[in-house]
Amino acid sequence: MSQIKVNNPATGELIEEVKVNTTAEVELAIENASTAFDSWKKVNAHERARLLKKWYELIQLNKEEIAKIMTLENGKPLKESLGEVNYATDYIEWYAEEAKRIYGRTIPAHQDGKRIVVTKQPIGVVAAITPWNFPAAMMTRKAAPALAAGCTFIVKPAEETPLTMIRLVELAHEAGIPEHVVQVVNGPGKEIGEVFTSSKDVRKITFTGSTPVGKLLIKNSADTVKSVTMELGGHAPVIVAKDADVDFAVTQTIASKFRNAGQTCVCANRVIVHESIVDEFSEKLAQEVKKLKVGNGLEEGTDIGPIINKGGYEKIVNQLEDAVEKGADVLTGNEYEANYDKDCYFVQPTVIKNANLDMTIMHEETFGPIAPVISFKEIEEAVKIANDTPFGLAAYFFTEDYQTGIQLYEQLDYGIVSWNDGAPSAAHVPFGGMKESGLGREGGTEGIEPYLETKYLSIGNVE
Ligand code: NAP
Repeated sequence: MSQIKVNNPATGELIEEVKVNTTAEVELAIENASTAFDSWKKVNAHERARLLKKWYELIQLNKEEIAKIMTLENGKPLKESLGEVNYATDYIEWYAEEAKRIYGRTIPAHQDGKRIVVTKQPIGVVAAITPWNFPAAMMTRKAAPALAAGCTFIVKPAEETPLTMIRLVELAHEAGIPEHVVQVVNGPGKEIGEVFTSSKDVRKITFTGSTPVGKLLIKNSADTVKSVTMELGGHAPVIVAKDADVDFAVTQTIASKFRNAGQTCVCANRVIVHESIVDEFSEKLAQEVKKLKVGNGLEEGTDIGPIINKGGYEKIVNQLEDAVEKGADVLTGNEYEANYDKDCYFVQPTVIKNANLDMTIMHEETFGPIAPVISFKEIEEAVKIANDTPFGLAAYFFTEDYQTGIQLYEQLDYGIVSWNDGAPSAAHVPFGGMKESGLGREGGTEGIEPYLETKYLSIGNVE
């Protein structure tokens, strides 16, 4: 394969062909990034901040065009693409500011005549691999802190969605960030991943994608002892306590569950509702979900775009069939449209009730617009169901009672806990998961640390 065919998942039309980089070209990109690191790390933090700010401004100026590219290659509704471009640029703006706040410290010495100084320095060449579900934001939340820290950066986007990334990198160069400081390479993840992980010059791997690929990258990074940041899969629970504001919980569950057709790592995957309100909640959820319009993301009024590919579609259909076979009641949805010739797949947003723990959907990430509702009696039971998973990315709960709220916050084994809030992501907060959902955090003050080495200087014999 020498070209990647980028198709519109809503229509099957070919949008563009992108050249696959050979191994030699990826190696050259690493070599160039390594050479560029020698000068980029010396660019002072205020100048790096200025260049990042300029990049932010250029993306903002071109955001309508970028959002359209994103909808064409990813399928998400245009309003969501615009939202993602804003979210993606928030990271660049935030880390442009943080570049100026990479502080060291001094430590009182334990002996006379000594001084102790601690400084931070950039880790080196960073290689990133990103998924198709957020083609802009998954890149900027890695690139912005890396560049702010003084690292050079190479990214390999998902084969489904390279075009958004190519445009973002063009704009970085237009902003004045040198060509070899930020680069994009294209091709199959397995091959490029091996070049990245085996290179002695790459000092950090930062990855967003599935847990199995993340585990492989961690293993392959061991030989050269690279730093790794892993943003992996999720299986988010939503707990609706008996004292929750049901209408509010319904709107927030929809915000969490159906964004990007349910193809987000922090999507609600299991809805765990107190038995006293489960009927009311499920009916109201189904009523609202029925109003969501499925279609081409470029068309006005579309709420749910296509499923990205056949593999994703079949996973959703299998989970749904399994749930229905094991006793789930369909309140709305459970309809599909697959055009195998064009490679286009749509799934109607679906609410199922009477889910039980034998169903695959209660244990595996769905990555689709299906909301399974299960009931509980005691809050401890809800916590047990929520924590019974190898994943620990995002958890949501709805309660008006602060005792229940604090108890849930403390007991849920998740990196992101959202109380009466279906949309917790932001550039200035630490995003990331526990357990098999990942290693490290992106965003906030935490998000720049993985791109920095800590260096300690001990000075002796001071008069
Ligand atoms: P994926 O299959 O892991 O692919 C993600 C990226 O990894 C793509 O660029 C892919 O390249 C590359 N890749 C595939 N196999 C590889 C290998 N053997 N070595 C190195 N790279 C490889 O994941 P996906 O299906 O695209 O994305 C969905 C997953 O991402 C879900 O599990 C979701 O939860 C997770 N996710 C997590 C977060 C988070 O912040 N925690 C955010 C978004 C998504 P190709 O395109 O060439 O295959």
